[in-house]
Amino acid sequence: MEESVSPTGISVRLISYTPEPESVIIKAIRVCYKEKEADSVVSPETMREVIRRVIRRGHLSVIEHISFTFLIDGISRACSHQLVRHRIASYSQQSQRYVDFEGLRYIIPPTIAEDDELDKRFREHIAETFKLYRELREAGVPSEDARFVLPNASATRIIFTMNARELMHFLRLRLCRRAQWEIREVAIMVGEILSEIVPSVFRLSAPSCAYGPCPEGDMTCGDPYRPPWYEEE
Ligand SMILES: Cc1cc2nc3c(=O)[nH]c(=O)nc-3n(C[C@H](O)[C@H](O)[C@H](O)COP(=O)(O)OP(=O)(O)OC[C@H]3O[C@@H](n4cnc5c(N)ncnc54)[C@H](O)[C@@H]3O)c2cc1C
Repeated sequence: MEESVSPTGISVRLISYTPEPESVIIKAIRVCYKEKEADSVVSPETMREVIRRVIRRGHLSVIEHISFTFLIDGISRACSHQLVRHRIASYSQQSQRYVDFEGLRYIIPPTIAEDDELDKRFREHIAETFKLYRELREAGVPSEDARFVLPNASATRIIFTMNARELMHFLRLRLCRRAQWEIREVAIMVGEILSEIVPSVFRLSAPSCAYGPCPEGDMTCGDPYRPPWYEEE
């Protein structure tokens, strides 16, 4: 399945998805608009045109019937916390109760990594934190309690499953230039993969500023973002 790794080391892998996703959407559309179930063969071009028309009308329940499962690795706990706020999804995340403390990994934000002095202080702080974690574990503190000292920077792996409607919503919010950099990188990689697999749906996926005024108000970046895959009307 498709995998993408960002320059900052985030890996996004599509693990599985509903087979023949566009045919499934067409079935749903037919249930809504045809009196009888017709099994006539529709060309891929017609399918795509019909799907796009229905999505543009805002009839989005028909794309809830296709789902995608992604494995994300190399994001911080700060990032995964934002991801799991998207409620119409299923998640399984690497446990910090069963974490092997020899394998502790962490993420350094580029804004810190690009400054030698800040980078050094950040690494020292994390090393000290992980040292304390080990001391607690060696003193018999269970990992479920020792993890209280672990930083937001701790790296994690998470697998999630979302339907196409929730993925469009996720992309709309998280492709925004003002979204946190990690979740935005994840959103861009997810969008790239999905726009190849189901172009009729995901080439219409973009941040809010592609559809109307920027919702950020005074905090707008002033530089509307159009993803490379996005096909405007
Ligand atoms: C720029 C930005 C800043 C943010 N800042 C903060 C912050 O400071 N603090 C904070 O706590 N969170 C913050 N968030 C997270 C945000 O509040 C949402 O929790 C997150 O974006 C998930 O999206 P969502 O709520 O639209 O819905 P999802 O959970 O993705 O669900 C999709 C849609 O389903 C519907 N829905 C889902 N559940 C319900 C429900 N229980 N009742 C009614 N409708 C529902 C809604 O229409 C929702 O939009 C921020 C998000 C963004 C993008």
